[in-house]
Amino acid sequence: MSCRYPDCKNRSKGPRLRFLCEEHLKLPKKKQDPRSASGD
Ligand SMILES: [Zn+2]
Repeated sequence: MSCRYPDCKNRSKGPRLRFLCEEHLKLPKKKQDPRSASGD
């Protein structure tokens, strides 16, 4: 499973961490995935 951030090829940590890599987990939620920011 890779990071869901656009153009990011890093490996994510799984669903518990929103399928983001360590690098993008540090970003504000709005920057993690603008297209699905309405959920959660
Ligand atoms: Zn990433």
